[in-house]
Amino acid sequence: MCYAIPGKVETIDKNIAIIDYFGQKKKAINELLSLVPGDYVYAQGGYVIQKVKPHDAKEILEAWQEMFVQLQEVDAKIFRLSDKGAGENLKLRNILDKACEGKALKNEDLEYLLNLKDPAEVELFLKAANFLRQKYHQNACCAHGIIEISNYCRRGCTYCGISTHNGSLKRYRMSPDEIYSAVKEAVDVHGFKAIVLQSGEDPGYSIKELAEIIREIKKRHAVLILISFGEIGIEGLKELFGAGARGLLMRFETSNPELYRKTHSGQELETRLEHIREAYKIGYLIITGGLVGLPGQTSKDIINDLFLAKELNAEMFSFGPFLPHPNTPLAGSAVLEGDSILKTLALARFVALPESKILVTTAFETLTPSAREQGLLAGANSLMLNVTPLKYRALYSIYPKRAHELESIDIQVKDVIMLLKSLGRVPTDLGISQGG
Ligand code: SAH
Repeated sequence: MCYAIPGKVETIDKNIAIIDYFGQKKKAINELLSLVPGDYVYAQGGYVIQKVKPHDAKEILEAWQEMFVQLQEVDAKIFRLSDKGAGENLKLRNILDKACEGKALKNEDLEYLLNLKDPAEVELFLKAANFLRQKYHQNACCAHGIIEISNYCRRGCTYCGISTHNGSLKRYRMSPDEIYSAVKEAVDVHGFKAIVLQSGEDPGYSIKELAEIIREIKKRHAVLILISFGEIGIEGLKELFGAGARGLLMRFETSNPELYRKTHSGQELETRLEHIREAYKIGYLIITGGLVGLPGQTSKDIINDLFLAKELNAEMFSFGPFLPHPNTPLAGSAVLEGDSILKTLALARFVALPESKILVTTAFETLTPSAREQGLLAGANSLMLNVTPLKYRALYSIYPKRAHELESIDIQVKDVIMLLKSLGRVPTDLGISQGG
C-alpha cells in the first residue's frame, strides 16, 4: 500500500511547483533540477521528493480515482454540522460560527471551549473543528513513520521514562546498518514517504555520524527525513539540514517558563525555542507542541501552548497527554481524561493556520484506544506509525505500555488503512495548500 498518491506538476515558478491532485491544486517546494511541468511526482510535507514514471503514476491514479471520489462523499457526510446538540447555548453557537468562518477567537472563548462539560456541547465543538479540517484539508490524512534509533539520554526531564531518572531501563542504540534496514523496510516494503528519526539526547552519536546516516538514507531512498534528536545545537541543525534532513520534530513541552524549569531540571525554555526558531530559518518544516496534563498546568497554559506552536510556524501541531512513568519523579501523578486531549486538538484546529496539520499522538492512543478515530473527527489529520524494529520498540519507554508496542508494521498499516477508509480519508500528504 502506498503512502502517497502522485500528483501532476502544472507549473514551476522558481522553486515552487503547483501540483494537481484530482483537480485540487497544491503547492510544494521543489529541489529536483530536472522537474518540468507535466511530470508526475510524490510530494510530502510540502516538498517534492520524487519523480514518478508517467505509466506508473497513471496506474496508481486510476486505482485511486474512484475511491477518491467515494471517500470524499463519505467524509462530506460525516463532517456536516447538525443543528442538534447546542441546545439553547447561543454563546457556544456564536463562538463556533466565528471559528467555522476561520475568524480568530479570543483567549476567553478558547478557554470557554476547553472547559465545556456538557457532552452534547462538547460534541458540537469537536464537530466544528472537524468541519474546519474538512474545509482546509478535504479528506487528506498524512501518515509518517517514526524510527526510534536510540533510547540513551543525558537529560533529566522529570516526566520522561528514558531520562536519567530511569536507572533500570535497558539502553539500546541502533547501528547505522540497523537504521538503514529499518528505513528500507518502511520505505520499500510499506511505502512510507516520510520518516522521523528520533532518539534521546544521545552523545553516543556525533553530529558527523548522524549526518552520514542521513546522507546515506537520502542516497538510497526518495524519502522526506525529519529529525528528533533533541537540542543538538544550531550548528548541528545546519549540518543535518545540509545532509538532507528537512523536518524537525521538537516539542517545546510547555510554554510556561516556570513549569518548564521545574520539569527540566533547571534548563531554560528559551534554549529549546531558539532551536525551533533557528530550524525554521534554516528551512526545516517544524513539528512542535507540548504535553497536556503536566502537574500544575492550567487551561491558560494550554491555550498559550497552542499560540506558541502557531508562532513557531508549526506545519504540524503535536499535542499529547502526559502519562506518568513509574521510574520518574512524576510517578503517581494524576492521569488526564481523554476528553481534554480531544478538546485541545479541536482548539488547535481553531488556532492553527489553515494549512497546518494536527497529529493524533501515540500517547493519546495509549490513553484512549479509539483516539485515532476520535481525534480525526475532532480536527486532526495526521498519524505517526511506529516503524522501530520490534526488538527495540518497548525499550523506547517514554511512558509505560505504549500503544502498538507489540504490533508488526504490517498490522499497523492495515489497521490505519481500514480506519481511514471507514472515515472517508485518503492516506496521503498532499503538500502545502495553495495560497498557504
Ligand atoms: N530527544 C528528543 C525526543 C524526546 S522523546 C527531544 O528532545 O525532542 C519525544 C517526546 O516524548 C517528548 O518531546 C515528550 O513530549 C514525550 N514524552 C516524554 N515523556 C512522556 C510521558 N511521560 N508522557 C507523554 N509523553 C512523553
